[in-house]
Amino acid sequence: MIDDAIRILAGDCTVIAESGDQQEYRGRMTTVVKPDNTVLVHDTDGYQPVAWLTRADSVSSDRSDGFTLVAKKDTQTLRIAAHDQDGFAHYPASVAGPVVGTCPDCSGALVRSNGIHCVDCGDRYGIPSDATIRGEASNCDCGLPRMRVERGLAFDVCLDRDCESLDDAVSDAFDREWSCPESDCDGDLRILRRGGLIAGCEHYPDCDTGFAMPAGVVDGQCRCGLPTFDTGSGTRCLDATCDPIGERRLEERPASGD
Ligand SMILES: [Zn+2]
Ligand SMILES: [Zn+2]
Ligand SMILES: [Zn+2]
Ligand SMILES: [Zn+2]
Repeated sequence: MIDDAIRILAGDCTVIAESGDQQEYRGRMTTVVKPDNTVLVHDTDGYQPVAWLTRADSVSSDRSDGFTLVAKKDTQTLRIAAHDQDGFAHYPASVAGPVVGTCPDCSGALVRSNGIHCVDCGDRYGIPSDATIRGEASNCDCGLPRMRVERGLAFDVCLDRDCESLDDAVSDAFDREWSCPESDCDGDLRILRRGGLIAGCEHYPDCDTGFAMPAGVVDGQCRCGLPTFDTGSGTRCLDATCDPIGERRLEERPASGD
């Protein structure tokens, strides 16, 4: 279950905001405390809070004498004291994002927000930021949507790495496919994960040649011998420091004036 909760305190309150100087407000207001300790105090007007503290270091509440809530961050303090409490509640909360599918475990909505999250059960799947989520017709046998990720080819794999591994798919396609470009090295490039996916020389650490696998599909060979990738915004060499078609690009530029 989701254990993140948004807490709400509503009532006639005094709010004291201290950061160097001190501001004091009194009104019938609603305070929202987010799971990341962001505190927002709202009155009747507009979207902007009367007072707030983003991601406080600590939020403590005390119900022994009325209701008080104290949030602290560095030198800033936000104190909220309820004189007359209209309500106090907490509600389950999740990240929000565009819906990309349905959770096979609980039928909740899967949304995309820095990864894929189930709004109901809280399951989450890390995905590459350039991944696109496929429609229901492409769902994995496990029920999860598949994502499309371009790493030399367009791979459609399950959101769950333990179900279908992007790394394995890229390795199957490109492991030892290319030779190390170092002139005094006879190694092959292996597909490895070091942070991201890289094509790195098999003779590491004797040869430390390695290239991050670009987001794109292989569309040819560079004059240096390495493959080129169509990234959607142009063609580049596997070696990001190599300009594969610098000369050709000039020649192919259309004549001006038409
Ligand atoms: Zn779920
Ligand atoms: Zn699956
Ligand atoms: Zn090498
Ligand atoms: Zn090149």
